[in-house]
Amino acid sequence: MSFSNLFGSSVVDMDSDEKKSEEHVTKKIKITTNNGWEHVFARGGIKSRFTKTTTADATEFIKPHRPRAQKQSLEMLISLPLDILFEIFGRLLPLDLLHLARTTKALRAVLMHRSSTTVWMAARSNVKGMSACADDMSEPAHASLAFDMHCHNCLKPNVRNVDWNLRIRYCSKCFKERTEVVDDKFKQAYGLKLQHCLSLSMTQNRNDIRCLISDRESLVDELSKLGPEERSVLRGSKRDEALVRKEHAVLCTKWTEGEQQSRWKELDHLRSLRYGAIVEKLIELGWEEDVNKLPDRHTARIYKLTHFEDHSLVKQPKPLTDRIWQNIQHKIVEFMGQMREFRIQQERKQQIRERQSLVATIYSDWQRENGYNEFLMPTAADLFGMRQVRDIVELPFHVTVTAEDFQPVRGELLEIVDAWKRRTNRDLRSDLLYRLEIHPPYWQAQCSVECEKLAVAVLTCTRWLCEDIPQPNDSPPYMYFPEYLHHRCNRIRRRTWDELDPANTFAMGQGYPGSTVQREWSTDGLEFDEKASRTVKNILDACDLDWREATVLELDNLDPRLVCLKCSYGNCCDGERPMTVRSWRESVKHCAKKHWSDSAVKWQKISDEEARSLRQDQKEAAASTTTPPRKIWRCTHCHNKPREPEKMTVQGMTDHLEDHHSIDPIDQVVGKDFFQALDVPPTAIPSVKLKPKAVDPPPLKFRAAHWERSFCDDIYP
Ligand SMILES: [Zn+2]
Ligand SMILES: [Zn+2]
Ligand SMILES: [Zn+2]
Ligand SMILES: [Zn+2]
Repeated sequence: MSFSNLFGSSVVDMDSDEKKSEEHVTKKIKITTNNGWEHVFARGGIKSRFTKTTTADATEFIKPHRPRAQKQSLEMLISLPLDILFEIFGRLLPLDLLHLARTTKALRAVLMHRSSTTVWMAARSNVKGMSACADDMSEPAHASLAFDMHCHNCLKPNVRNVDWNLRIRYCSKCFKERTEVVDDKFKQAYGLKLQHCLSLSMTQNRNDIRCLISDRESLVDELSKLGPEERSVLRGSKRDEALVRKEHAVLCTKWTEGEQQSRWKELDHLRSLRYGAIVEKLIELGWEEDVNKLPDRHTARIYKLTHFEDHSLVKQPKPLTDRIWQNIQHKIVEFMGQMREFRIQQERKQQIRERQSLVATIYSDWQRENGYNEFLMPTAADLFGMRQVRDIVELPFHVTVTAEDFQPVRGELLEIVDAWKRRTNRDLRSDLLYRLEIHPPYWQAQCSVECEKLAVAVLTCTRWLCEDIPQPNDSPPYMYFPEYLHHRCNRIRRRTWDELDPANTFAMGQGYPGSTVQREWSTDGLEFDEKASRTVKNILDACDLDWREATVLELDNLDPRLVCLKCSYGNCCDGERPMTVRSWRESVKHCAKKHWSDSAVKWQKISDEEARSLRQDQKEAAASTTTPPRKIWRCTHCHNKPREPEKMTVQGMTDHLEDHHSIDPIDQVVGKDFFQALDVPPTAIPSVKLKPKAVDPPPLKFRAAHWERSFCDDIYP
């Protein structure tokens, strides 16, 4: 039954449209003198969330009184006998009565009269679970507080917060303005007892309990006019009132919350119906695959996309009518188009990643099989940038690419790696030669000078991952050959915050921060440490070695023990003076820490004989003490593959190989399944106090520089 049947076709516009009457269900009704009756009765015919009983009876009753005139006048209603009028009103809901009372003066007079209380009570009983009106409140006031959704102060609409203790419904602005916090300041101003005589706001926050300013003012005013005895009587009665009010408020709040929850449920239900209807329409239009593959909430958040359910045209709690669909269709289809584009992009990225992962696996296996983990090699990310690899990885979407397709690349790997090494060596060497101020003669190619192996090539890393690592003795983390070449920061980088799917790279695995990805090999993050390099030169001087020739390996093999002549105030070893004797690496650290890497610091090498016996003692001491296990092992099976883990201890590696690669501990082979990471420095040699005996000083100036000599030899044979 539509309203047009009931009230004639032209009473209200909306009656002419069946669909509009459907929409009507969820629309808020504004009653005016012109449309009041229709809505009042129509309301009864709608299954409202408040309705306990339908108003079939009421409409039955109204039929004989169907107005003849097209324009209905509410004034006519008032001419009905009062008992009939009350019978009708009693079938309505409190909100309907509130609206009616605002339509005409006559109706207002009837409804607000004390004798109408029973009508309001009847209307209230039509609302499921609504608690009774408090004794000190009128029924209309109770109804207004419960159902009038505007701020009771500024009339702002859609205010859902009602405070049953303070008996107010205020918008947040008015609430702040018209209430005050009952805090220590309040207690100081009005005494400790006053708050118990006032109704206080219901809040979860103990520091934000509030009362109405007007309540407080009138109570303070009242109390000030009374003598001490009367005052205490008033306080007592106010306290009782407040307690009674609180009890009532608890019931009402429970009901309000229940109402709110069922409203949310109802809205959710309406939304899901609309969502379902839209999905159905889209499937009809051929968007099924796209609907099924819409990004989930997590993906939508990461890529800053609108999740389909959150789309402003989808999430509305309104049924989807044909007319609405006609209006929103093109926007929804446009949105789906964007989602399809996004999906295709993501699928392509995923495909590329999978193909690159095939290359990485081939590369990693090739390295392991040939034992190339001991050498400096390009990273998988380097390979992705190479033409041979790119040509296959970037084959069109519809082409199926398998490991087989990369076999030609495998055949070329040695060549590819060699070319990369030549390039890398050239760049690295020319840079180091420049920093070390070594100028090879014109006939010697720069890249043939193995300057990276020199002991004076001292580098530090300033990358994010190395920034905060505490160093023993607070010394800078100096790196020498070959550590710095294999330093982890040369192979990884941090993903930037706006980089969602970094191309041509893999995320690193266990042991690395979550945002770490592989990158093309580079020493960008390393810095040549000029001061430390100068210290090494001084040490080499003391060892009578040419800094242009002495390599790290040579110096480590020689393992000289040195004393700092700055700490001894220039005094040399004499067999009586106690001195601290250090290895060359420790001496560089000492110089940095104690003497700011002052290049004027000179060193003296203790006698070979004493150094030999010291080394022997330390070797024996080291053998008899257990040191904590170091994380120095890398897995060859994971090397260069996606989610490659960081270095591990022996135990960690054993477990890893067993868990991730199903290799039994007895079958695990060092060098084949795992290898000692090349970026790990040798174990630090402890310094010792000695009274080193006197040694012959080194010659004043060691032999002429190698380059100069060969150059001279050449010209003047
Ligand atoms: Zn307000
Ligand atoms: Zn680093
Ligand atoms: Zn010193
Ligand atoms: Zn592994």
